[in-house]
Amino acid sequence: MADYDVDLFVIGGGSGGVRAARIAAEHGARVMVAEEYRLGGTCVIRGCVPKKLFVYASRFHGEFEDAAGYGWTVPQSTFDWATLVANKDREIARLEAAYGATLAKAGAKVAKSRAVLVDRHTVQLASGERVRAAYILVATGGTPTYGDSIPGIEHAISSNEAFHLREFPSRVVIQGGGYIAVEFAGIFAGLGAHVTLVYRGDMILRGFDDDVRKHLRVEMEARGIRVLTGCKVAAIEQASGHFSVRMSSGNHVPADRVLFATGRSANVAKLGLEAAGVELAKDGSVAVDRFSRTSVDNIYAVGDVTNRINLTPVAIREGHAFADTVFGAKPTAVDHSNVPTAVFSEPEVGTVGLTESEARAQLVQTDVYKAMFKPLKATLSGRSTSVLMKLIVDGLSGRVVGCHVVGEGAAEMAQLAAVAVKMGASKADFDATIALHPTAAEEFVTMRKPTASFVREAAE
Ligand SMILES: Cc1cc2nc3c(=O)[nH]c(=O)nc-3n(C[C@H](O)[C@H](O)[C@H](O)COP(=O)(O)OP(=O)(O)OC[C@H]3O[C@@H](n4cnc5c(N)ncnc54)[C@H](O)[C@@H]3O)c2cc1C
Repeated sequence: MADYDVDLFVIGGGSGGVRAARIAAEHGARVMVAEEYRLGGTCVIRGCVPKKLFVYASRFHGEFEDAAGYGWTVPQSTFDWATLVANKDREIARLEAAYGATLAKAGAKVAKSRAVLVDRHTVQLASGERVRAAYILVATGGTPTYGDSIPGIEHAISSNEAFHLREFPSRVVIQGGGYIAVEFAGIFAGLGAHVTLVYRGDMILRGFDDDVRKHLRVEMEARGIRVLTGCKVAAIEQASGHFSVRMSSGNHVPADRVLFATGRSANVAKLGLEAAGVELAKDGSVAVDRFSRTSVDNIYAVGDVTNRINLTPVAIREGHAFADTVFGAKPTAVDHSNVPTAVFSEPEVGTVGLTESEARAQLVQTDVYKAMFKPLKATLSGRSTSVLMKLIVDGLSGRVVGCHVVGEGAAEMAQLAAVAVKMGASKADFDATIALHPTAAEEFVTMRKPTASFVREAAE
């Protein structure tokens, strides 16, 4: 690799790129990373981390309300958006610096610049400087998309801008039914805004278990969020000092902000992929094999730009596996099965494995264990809420193939349930585990009889 300036050039200093750069450098590679915005990428700067901080902020509202049943008198509470944003920004800046320090410690160089491919071994920085690299890793992530162009779309914001609003919007319309839309609905509502969530499909959270989708909607509505399904924003019109959002139904909803969370696409525009001969998949993402190698054998891609499972820990795992494969003499393919995921809505969703409908399509026999109950905390607070817990079991092998929770602590539960599901635990293993009382999670080891059992019709 002596003919090259570096052994590895990483385009994108986000979750996947930073992990790959660090591990490759630790394996002895000469590494350079280019980041055009801020080190840490989407997750740290305008994704998971600031989002979760906002979620924490939004949950105090419910806690204050619930406190009365437990004997507390909470004085009239007030919320200051500017304080939250400033404190969040301070924490994000700290994390960004920590990412820089990690790369420096590993010996990787960082170029604070956009980088594009010139050919399969050459990358060009914004300054015009060209760097020759033996290997190139594309880790450029994704970017928000706005769907169909509608009149007034220029007034809409994406999640990127939602983290930096100067003023708190007291009326928010959110278009989208995915996890980002649902999470922001909970955040703004919890912080005191009137929120209308508009989704063109008939049920929010496509891809999640149907019971989870229905249950979450009921819970969101109980917290004052207006959910309009089978509907979309048709136009965003300017009114005096606010927006008037025209729905496809013809109704108008007033809003101070209109947030579009209608999906994300791979960040491939003007990246020079064609010049390097890198092929794209039909959905516009970078096509890769199970070792994250593109159609060009010295160019790899990891994370959201490959649109496999667009989550931070997956991008990190892919980046690590790439570095081990190419620079650590340890070929590693990432196993994308049974990746746990959460929606930090209010209440939270945690899930791992198959949904009921996926299991019923794939398995000969599917046993469903379902429980819905009022959480203990809600008894004294008087809050009208219920927890949903669901286990999906392969009726022939007894193996637990899916766990789904809607309720407080759901994400934490899903992370641990994922260990059992990944190990292939059976329903009998769950049953053999003594309950931890009093918790909601104990329901997972005390559901004795299936609430439903389905046998797949044999194919003709
Ligand atoms: C609002 C929101 C909430 C989310 N919440 C969660 C969550 O709770 N849990 C979870 O697991 N995931 C969450 N995600 C998804 C998660 O953020 C991504 O899956 C993850 O960041 C992907 O990592 P990546 O390395 O592929 O890309 P990114 O982290 O997006 O990093 C790509 C980097 O490349 C840079 N870049 C792009 N093009 C160039 C170029 N040409 N030159 C130089 N630099 C370039 C970008 O500026 C960016 O910093 C969330 C995402 C969003 C938007």
